[in-house]
Amino acid sequence: MLSGKHLIAGEWKSGDATFSSEPAHGDAHEFAVGTPAHVDTAVKAAEDAFVSYGYSSREDRAAFLNAIADEIEARGAEITAIGTSETGLPEARLEGERGRTTGQLRLFASHILEGDYLDRRHDEALPDRQPLPRPDLRMIQRPIGPVAVFGASNFPLAFSTAGGDTAAALAAGCPVVVKGHSAHPGTGEIVAQAIDAAIKKCGLHPGVFSLVQGGTRETGQALVTHPLIRAVGFTGSLAGGRALFDLCASRPEPIPFFGELGSVNPMFLMTNAVKARGGEIAKGWAGSLTMGAGQFCTNPGIAVIIDGPDADAFCKAATEALEPVGAQTMLTDGIAGAYRAGRDRVAASAGVQDLLTSTCDLRNATPYLYRVSGTDWLANHALGEEVFGPLGLIVTVKDLDEMQAIASSLQGQLTCTIHMDAADTADSQTLMPILERKAGRLLANGFPTGVEVCDSMVHGGPYPASTNFGATSVGTLSIRRFLRPVCFQNIPDALLPDDLK
Ligand code: NAP
Repeated sequence: MLSGKHLIAGEWKSGDATFSSEPAHGDAHEFAVGTPAHVDTAVKAAEDAFVSYGYSSREDRAAFLNAIADEIEARGAEITAIGTSETGLPEARLEGERGRTTGQLRLFASHILEGDYLDRRHDEALPDRQPLPRPDLRMIQRPIGPVAVFGASNFPLAFSTAGGDTAAALAAGCPVVVKGHSAHPGTGEIVAQAIDAAIKKCGLHPGVFSLVQGGTRETGQALVTHPLIRAVGFTGSLAGGRALFDLCASRPEPIPFFGELGSVNPMFLMTNAVKARGGEIAKGWAGSLTMGAGQFCTNPGIAVIIDGPDADAFCKAATEALEPVGAQTMLTDGIAGAYRAGRDRVAASAGVQDLLTSTCDLRNATPYLYRVSGTDWLANHALGEEVFGPLGLIVTVKDLDEMQAIASSLQGQLTCTIHMDAADTADSQTLMPILERKAGRLLANGFPTGVEVCDSMVHGGPYPASTNFGATSVGTLSIRRFLRPVCFQNIPDALLPDDLK
């Protein structure tokens, strides 16, 4: 049952103003607008909770994460019902995403129990060392304090209320205040109910988690500028992320802003691979490009290929593979409008040729495919900007040198892909040092959509893929964003954190 309220430190609170959800289908619901006062109460409670939660045992936190996963599963049908209505995503997708969300929570539980993430180091005292003795030095990663989380519209479960950022912060020992996403406030509320139940079951301080719904931009701004917030996890648009990042940097005490923003995820198609299996690559690309109406941050929007008959055949095969894909519902009216604006921008750019156009309106997206020469692409920086949706751009280059020039001109990316055969190895080797500096994840002969949640995953990259290229927002390494190293010098055992004794 939806209450339309915020969950603030264990209490369900309303306010004076409300906003209405905008479901893809089904009934709209009213939700309380989050005010700076709600944010202040939630963050102060989070700071109070840190006194106990920041020093809780790894076993207790693992039990909490597992309890959240159980409580989400217990509400599975309810979450799917409200989630499909709010986002327009199909049931099967939401059920899969729920599994990913509970899997992430349980993965973090086992990760912290193993303890490697603490990166414990010890330099024993050398009292007789000349010319100076060495003190006893021990280092460990410690939680940083209350963390603000902004979920993504396109992953209402796995990147939202109890998504990767929340799981990583709670695993680290940091209380979390989530700013609810206005695209799925009801889904967010039911997940918050699950976390609330887990807090009670585990007997934790209620300030360990709060959900403040949005409704106005002031809510998020109040959250990132609150003096007790120590870091922000964000997944969303470049414009929104940049605005919040700048706010974090302009605080009297700046804090880290871990923003995962946009990316065009270019693919480089090497000569022999295209000759041998261009049609197959085109089909795979069409599937990846249109999956979930193209609303994936890892959507491969650009294919770079050497011009000639094989490139022409690739364009034809990609067009044919995309043609039968029908209209799909987008997450919000705003995202659908932004998709059409992006399409118009690309279509009107100098040298851009239509390969496939379609008609989409309202909250729908249909695929579009365009072709442009490497020279025109290099002359127009805007063609390298993300269009969030199922739009592809094939860049035909003169030769390997121009392909390298395209690679060098790229902004930071979440992923870059090379499609290659063994005979393309030497050419591909020339791209690797360039691409490694551009992206958080490099792929060969695959498609970047579908991000594995595991130890070695990096979902991040140089700006604007992310605002912090040393971090990832997916996988166990993402816990490092909410920890900081502390060195203990000659501190007696009784005063050390338990994990360092
Ligand atoms: P968004 O519009 O940036 O919204 C994300 C969150 O930030 C929402 O809670 C939003 O509040 C808030 N927000 C945005 N601008 C703000 C501002 N100026 N001040 C305060 N709060 C602000 O992005 P979205 O619509 O959720 O997602 C679509 C975009 O996300 C796409 O462009 C896509 O590329 C990107 N994305 C990136 C990744 C990745 O991992 N890199 C993953 C998924 C999506 P409201 O709820 O009030 O709107």
